[in-house]
Amino acid sequence: MGRSSTSVDVAVIGAGPYGLSLAAHLRARGVEHRIFGEPMGPWKHNMPRGMLLKSYPWATCLSDPASEFTVKSFCSERALPYHDVLTPLTLERFIEYAEAFRMRYVPAVESKVLTALEAAGDGLRASFDDGETVNARRVVVAVGLHLFKHLPQDVAHFPAQLCSHSGDYGPLDPLDGKDVIVVGSGSSATDLAALLHERGISVSLVARAQQLRFANRPRNRSSIERVVAPLSGIGPGWGLSACAKYPRLVQLLPEQRRIQLANPKALGPLGGAFVKDRVVGKVPMWLGTSIQGIEIRNGKVQLNVVNAGRPALQTDHVIFATGYKADLSRLGFLDQTLLRRIRQVEGAPQLSSHYETSVPGLHFIGPAAANSFGPVCRFVYGTHHPARTLAQYLSSILVRARPALQVRPFDRTVLP
Ligand SMILES: Cc1cc2nc3c(=O)[nH]c(=O)nc-3n(C[C@H](O)[C@H](O)[C@H](O)COP(=O)(O)OP(=O)(O)OC[C@H]3O[C@@H](n4cnc5c(N)ncnc54)[C@H](O)[C@@H]3O)c2cc1C
Repeated sequence: MGRSSTSVDVAVIGAGPYGLSLAAHLRARGVEHRIFGEPMGPWKHNMPRGMLLKSYPWATCLSDPASEFTVKSFCSERALPYHDVLTPLTLERFIEYAEAFRMRYVPAVESKVLTALEAAGDGLRASFDDGETVNARRVVVAVGLHLFKHLPQDVAHFPAQLCSHSGDYGPLDPLDGKDVIVVGSGSSATDLAALLHERGISVSLVARAQQLRFANRPRNRSSIERVVAPLSGIGPGWGLSACAKYPRLVQLLPEQRRIQLANPKALGPLGGAFVKDRVVGKVPMWLGTSIQGIEIRNGKVQLNVVNAGRPALQTDHVIFATGYKADLSRLGFLDQTLLRRIRQVEGAPQLSSHYETSVPGLHFIGPAAANSFGPVCRFVYGTHHPARTLAQYLSSILVRARPALQVRPFDRTVLP
């Protein structure tokens, strides 16, 4: 592998919905940039095949500069069935759509992994797994949720064949033939329970909640309902609508209020609307059950529980659908000196109106920005705001700084 050192105005780290959307806008504005990461990697490897998306199809579009390439236009171009709300979007269809988006707007994604990021002169130095070092004036980190998987402390060091996190699954075949317990009551837990059950795997669900909650089945709503609880891209109600439409206003709120809004628990664990009938009455459940301890006995996992009518549950494998929590210290590529310079709010970066950290030139977008810009950052719907505003900002400071370079938009993506 050749070692080389290059420079670029903007390095975008991550090629999921956020990175791809930003790169599409940077390209249209003629901002010199490179984008790194496996396109839609976590959607391909860390979400279970057959999953149905919870967000409405109309609210699950990446952001292109003219807001023209929606899931709807993708489906109509290919004569695929589509409805804005009444039918769910499958994981597979969403990945196809994102791939078509990438080919159209972001053709030069470089599928390599950032291994180190450190300060260097006026900018930042990014090192990659193929030995290349890139000096960038600006770095935008869009690495999503997967690196922030949250497992209970007691099980973090258990062998992977006995315990895993819901985010460890794309294909489910490693679980074939096993007896499995899924712990959790949110959509990842109920999705996995449904998919495992339908695969013929013996699965049960353990949750502290007394009852599972599911989103209501989508239906055409009356005009009164639409006024009382408008439907936003991230859920119903005026509060969520404001968060979805005005992330910049959320960013102006006091810190504690922003943190409350960003907390995934504020929206509550909620199963997807189309999964209820596939789980309730089909998958055995231990609800209102707390896990007091977990141990390995004779090659099986034993959960010591309270309230299941028996003191312990034994199984071949436990999947913890215990969510994600942004924590910058878990981003192994961040140099310790750089990490210490980033002002944080409960482990997440504190961001300016341009998604910039307290380290000049270092930006974060996507779920890691939720403590600053609110819950919309945890949804694909949230791609529009950072893509548009950050591209505009970077274009204003970087392109103007180079007036001699008269280039047409679309000419300045650096090809690998
Ligand atoms: C099970 C599940 C279901 C979900 N369902 C929905 C839904 O229905 N609707 C919705 O709106 N949202 C949903 N979400 C949330 C959604 O996944 C995230 O909001 C979204 O993926 C965030 O996009 P992103 O671009 O920030 O990150 P991701 O899509 O996670 O992409 C991260 C990118 O960063 C790259 N990367 C990571 N580390 C490095 C590195 N070191 N070097 C280079 N590249 C790197 C990856 O390869 C990838 O390209 C769901 C999440 C989960 C876990």
